[in-house]
Amino acid sequence: MGFKLLSDEELIQQFELISPNVMLRAARLQLLARIVAKNVHIILSAINFIVCNCSSSCGWVAAIECDLKWLELGGKYHFSSILNSIEQIKGDPKKFQTHIRAYAASRFANLDVPKALPQYSSSVNFSSFHCTVCSKVFHTKQKLALHNFKVHNIKDPIRLYINTVHCPICMLYFHTRERLLNHVKFRSSVCKTNILLGGAILSEAQADSIDVQLQAENRALQVAGHRRHFAKDPVFRLPGPIANIVCPKPSAHHPLGIGRNYHY
Ligand SMILES: [Zn+2]
Ligand SMILES: [Zn+2]
Repeated sequence: MGFKLLSDEELIQQFELISPNVMLRAARLQLLARIVAKNVHIILSAINFIVCNCSSSCGWVAAIECDLKWLELGGKYHFSSILNSIEQIKGDPKKFQTHIRAYAASRFANLDVPKALPQYSSSVNFSSFHCTVCSKVFHTKQKLALHNFKVHNIKDPIRLYINTVHCPICMLYFHTRERLLNHVKFRSSVCKTNILLGGAILSEAQADSIDVQLQAENRALQVAGHRRHFAKDPVFRLPGPIANIVCPKPSAHHPLGIGRNYHY
């Protein structure tokens, strides 16, 4: 009774908070300022090369270009290009960094940019994945995989390496093939590498027939309003000896323990 629901934007405005998008923008610009201040040649020449040779509207440089436009709205700077901004930052990097901090904390900088002004609404994601067939760009591996399947009918070959619902490398039990495939494809490079080293165990026809068998299950999930990888039951680790594993990126951590690289 008497409570008023506030949207994220209203909360940010009312309590003068910094929105996550602005934090990312400010952090990216601060990094640029540090690169310029320390005169990191290799990165500066890479930026120069990308600006002069790539027309693609993705990647870190494209995100920085959007961030600079956003910073221009603060009224203190005007950048004709990213290379021009580097020249201006060189003049006084400290002043540039102070301005980013002050502007990011202002209410105006945290106003949600309407979709009608795409030139100011930079993508938070700047990593990019290219389709090798039609060279379309996607922000996540998952979106690229979906595109490959829907448009080009290409399925991930990892489906030929798995015939269980538990990961044979880390012994995690996923209950469904879809969840295990996601674990191997997107979550654990250690498991993926070791499964690939084991070689394919299914033929295309066998993998297709498993897909057909699972159609009814997937349809039922869809009807219930869930995605295919819906986690009805929690994952648990099966007992048993873990086979010797090859670690693609050796580090001080256990390759299957907390702190391993989940993303690549
Ligand atoms: Zn494509
Ligand atoms: Zn695993």
